[in-house]
Amino acid sequence: MARCFDTRRIPGPALDRLADAHDVEVWPHRLPPTSEELRAHAAEAEGLLTLLTDAVDEPLLAAAPEVRAISNYAVGTDNVDLEAATRRGIPVGNTPDVLTDATADLAFALLLALARRLAEGEQDVRGGEWITWEPDRALGAEVTGATLGIVGFGRIGRAVARRAEGFGMEVLHTARSGGTPLEELLERADFLTLHCPLTEDTRHLIGDGAFARMKPTARLVNTARGPIVDPAALERALHEGTIAGAALDVTDPEPLAADHPLLRAPNLLVVPHIGSATVRTRHRMTEIAVANLLAGLAGEPMPHQAN
Ligand code: NAP
Repeated sequence: MARCFDTRRIPGPALDRLADAHDVEVWPHRLPPTSEELRAHAAEAEGLLTLLTDAVDEPLLAAAPEVRAISNYAVGTDNVDLEAATRRGIPVGNTPDVLTDATADLAFALLLALARRLAEGEQDVRGGEWITWEPDRALGAEVTGATLGIVGFGRIGRAVARRAEGFGMEVLHTARSGGTPLEELLERADFLTLHCPLTEDTRHLIGDGAFARMKPTARLVNTARGPIVDPAALERALHEGTIAGAALDVTDPEPLAADHPLLRAPNLLVVPHIGSATVRTRHRMTEIAVANLLAGLAGEPMPHQAN
């Protein structure tokens, strides 16, 4: 029986399978452990179940000499120093596939909400602004026939492409392994949606230079990771009308404080990192995260290993 530290309560019954096999401590609070708290708890643990809000970095691993398996409750592993874990021979699990459709749905929901100005419309109704049907009020962008540029054409990027085809969009994509060059994609896209991982290559990939290439009528959707977009450049682009709007599920910093200056930019819709937040998806993520940790602790290959 191994000692495991799980940094938050995660939904679904599968966590019981871990507790049946091992001695599991679950962090009981709504907010994640601080790095000091995480270090203190990890110091005692052999297995870690972490979230994207936990920095699993060199100092943490150095403070946790008995850890022999890490299971990250996300497909992205940008919160984990994979090289440092690999150097120590620690397998790191992630949760791909099961969240692809939920995240692609949210990307498309944001695209449609942005195109049709849903947030503004809802505010108008509640603010008593809906006084009659007006021919020229709340005019948005047509989605049918528009060009969608997808940055990162893996599981989620492809799932978004399938949805876009159903909406009669022209789909372009770029990825490391090919597709339309990013510069051309930026210039042609009416909607740009991000689905690449956060890496040193993609940090601030979308900044002043990218916005300058985009059409002033173009709209950006980010459901990947906040720092792929330079937030100061986005703020400028929205205020100056360099692009027509943005919808973000992920931000930099995250969470975005209610008084953050970015929230004063026009034509911006922000939701609180809910890409994978459906009941079924989160339950399935728990199943995979538990299966990964059980396998790693048993010295077997994890079903989904990221390093
Ligand atoms: P995936 O299948 O690994 O796809 C990633 C894609 O990004 C691949 O096509 C890859 O291209 C491409 N890519 C990598 N580096 C790139 C670069 N420098 N420029 C352009 N493209 C690049 O991953 P996935 O399952 O679709 O997930 C994608 C990301 O979505 C995750 O890493 C995570 O951060 C994010 N996500 C967010 C949420 C949320 O709640 N909002 C939920 C799930 C996932 P190559 O194949 O050529 O390497």
